[in-house]
Order: sequence, then structure tokens, then C-alpha cells
Amino acid sequence: MSKIQMKTPLVEMDGDEMTRIIWQMIKDILLLPYIDLKTEYYDLGLVHRNETDDKVTFDSAEATKKYGVAVKCATITPNAARMPEYNLKQMWKSPNGTIRAILDGTVFRTPILVKGITPYIPTWTKPITIARHAYGDVYKNVEMTAPKGSKAELVLTDADGNEVRELIHDFKDGGIIQGLHNRDESIASFARACFNFALDQKQDVWFATKDTISKKYDHRFKDIFQEIFDNEYKEKFDNAGIEYFYTLIDDAVARVIRSNGGYIWACKNYDGDVMSDMVATAYGSLAMMTSVLVSPDGIYEYEAAHGTVQRHYYKHLKGEKTSTNSVATIFAWSGALKKRGELDGLSELVDFAEKLEKATIQTIEEGVMTGDLAALSTLENKTKVDTEEFLNEVNVRLAAMMN
Ligand code: NAP
Ligand code: MG
Repeated sequence: MSKIQMKTPLVEMDGDEMTRIIWQMIKDILLLPYIDLKTEYYDLGLVHRNETDDKVTFDSAEATKKYGVAVKCATITPNAARMPEYNLKQMWKSPNGTIRAILDGTVFRTPILVKGITPYIPTWTKPITIARHAYGDVYKNVEMTAPKGSKAELVLTDADGNEVRELIHDFKDGGIIQGLHNRDESIASFARACFNFALDQKQDVWFATKDTISKKYDHRFKDIFQEIFDNEYKEKFDNAGIEYFYTLIDDAVARVIRSNGGYIWACKNYDGDVMSDMVATAYGSLAMMTSVLVSPDGIYEYEAAHGTVQRHYYKHLKGEKTSTNSVATIFAWSGALKKRGELDGLSELVDFAEKLEKATIQTIEEGVMTGDLAALSTLENKTKVDTEEFLNEVNVRLAAMMN
């Protein structure tokens, strides 16, 4: 069998710990036997980030801008404990944060559904994709405690030095205050990323804020979304047979619970933080959640939503077998290969990526799965396998489909 050829390289961002081990296994077992894999490799493992003073992260993001599609392994975001463990020069920032800032991207998280794992909300038969705005609001706040007898005001100084003041509160007793902001440009990028992704996925977009209470702040989000939709996307959505739907956040949560899924839920920063945890939990497992960063100009970076699975890695280092779920990482690769194939007009590559996903799901639905899923699955006959066995089982099914 001749291998599938690629035209443009994928930007490959390697990572840390157990996911780094899985990364190599996926390539060896599921990709290299079938594809003449072309990647531009960046080692975002913490050791190499430290050696390059984190330059490698910036380089990988620039390469993503150049080529348009990247696939990323989970990486360690260092904390105090990692300083001595990796002998770090400094506590390097989260690579995801750095890449997101350079690409000005929005993160879309989508659960992978399989038979045997029923969401806590059983009517959710299709995935709900959460898009979280990743700039501003409470995450870039300024806050103070207000002592008894103090007066808090909002002061805005314009370019000519003119001040506008508004009283926040006269504190007869002590209290607290907080200042928030967002930028029109960032909200517009978020809106475009959501609308582009919706066209890509052929799914509706739901967006909700608290604009009835926040008549200027949240209302601005609503207006920017509507304006961009009307001017740039309405026709494209009509042609694709999909909808943009705005409602109040209270109404949205009620509708989400009653829905069957199958849409993109665009959330403000805080809503997205909280709701993505709720939605992920309700669908069953973080190890079955994919994540893709999409820039407003259509650049894609695919990854798993989970971390480096540190606890399993320490077992692996002791020579013990682990049963680590590789599904989200497999889907990061399949997502990136599919997108690369679409952009380069390589139907064989798209077809391969789809078969890889099918083979993965089929493996689990036939009862072969890692420990985390075995604990959740309601299938009667199930076998718990280790990390490598699972990938070999997927390959048995993939090989059959490829013949
Ligand atoms: P984690 O890697 O997501 O793992 C937390 C726990 O969830 C694991 O111990 C495991 O539970 C379970 N789990 C997660 N993924 C799994 C999988 N694929 N298969 C089986 N079980 C899985 O989170 P963490 O341990 O809090 O973080 C480890 C490192 O990851 C940190 O350094 C953090 O900075 C980094 N991180 C990176 C990203 C990213 O690059 N996108 C995201 C989040 C965290 P059991 O131990 O009970 O089996
Ligand atoms: Mg959260």
C-alpha cells in the first residue's frame, strides 16, 4: 500500500509527560504506517522551552500563522513545584496563553460521544461546543476593598484629558469594588471566530449575555455580534442553512438543558469558564473533550482539552503500565489532518482522518477502552486495556477500513 502524500506541513507542537508518550505512540502506530507525514516540528516540552527561554513557543505560533494548521500536545504550565523538578530559569507562562494571544484566537471545546457513555443529561444526544471569549472582564479586573466612609467613582479620561465621573457607591459601611473592561476589537474577533467556526461545522451559534441588567457593557457584546452577523455573515448562514440566535443568559441555560445539543454556544469569558466545566462533566469525561483554537482569519490549532496526566506519567516512569485515554489526542491529530486535507484539496487525507475517528469510536463501542471509560461505560461486555493496547486495537480497525 502506498502512503498518503501531503502538500503542506502541519505545525507539530510536542508536549510533556504522559501525553508526550502518547503523542509518539499515536504517530508510530496510527499515522506513520499510512501517511507520508509532513510536519514542521516544535518541541514545546518544558525542558526545551526552558532551554530556548520559551522562544520555541513563539516560533511555533508564528509557524502556525504561516501554514494555517497546527496540532498540539498537552504541555506543563509551570507552578512552584515545577521549578526544582525541571530546574527552570523562570516560571514560564502557559504556552496555550502565549499561542492564543499571538493568534488572537477563540477556543472551541467539543465532547466526543460514544455509545455506552450516557451524558448526565440524557437528552444531549449531540455534542455542545462551547466557545469561550478569552479576553477581559473579570480576568483582567482591578479590585479594591472600600473602607467605611469611602466613596467609589468610575472615572474616564478621554484623549483630551476631559473627565467623566459616575458614582459607584458611597460606602457608609465597608465594602468592595471591581473595575472591568473589554475591547471592541477583541469582541469582534470573538464574534468572527464563532461565525467562521459555525460555517465550518454547519452548526447554529447561540450567544447570550445579561444585557437587560448590563445595558452598556453586555449590550455592547450583543450589538457587536449582531452588526458583524448582519454585515458579514447573514447571507453565508442562509446559504449554509444555519442560524445565529441571541438570547438572555438565563434563557440560554434553560434552553441548553432542554436541548439535544448540536450547536455552538458562544460564551463571555466567565460564562465560558464555568459552563465549559459543567458541560464537560455532564458529557462524562475530560479525556473525551477536544479543543481547537480558531483565529478570526481562519487559522486552526487542534489539541486535547485535558492536561499532561502527570499522575499516570509518574507510574510510567516507574515502569508500570498505565491505562491513559488517548482519544482526545487522536482527535486532535485527525482534526488537524482533516483541515489540512480540506485546505490542500487532498481527499485521501480527509478520508483517512475520518476513518481514524471512526475506528477510535468503534473500538470503544465494541467494548475495548481505557480505565477511565471502563468505569463509566454501561456496555455489558467491556475490556479495560492499557495505553498501548488501546492504540493497537484502534489500528486493527483502522487497517481493516484502509484495505
Ligand atoms: P490532567 O492532566 O488533565 O489530569 C487530571 C486527572 O484527570 C488525571 O490524573 C486523571 O485522573 C484524569 N485524566 C485527565 N486526562 C486523562 C486521560 N487522557 N486519560 C485518563 N485519565 C485522564 O490535569 P492535571 O494533572 O491537573 O495537570 C497536569 C499538567 O497538565 C499540569 O502541569 C498542567 O499545567 C497541565 N495542563 C495542560 C493543559 C494543556 O496543555 N492544554 C491543560 C490542562 C492542564 P486519575 O489520576 O484519577 O486517573
Ligand atoms: Mg473553569
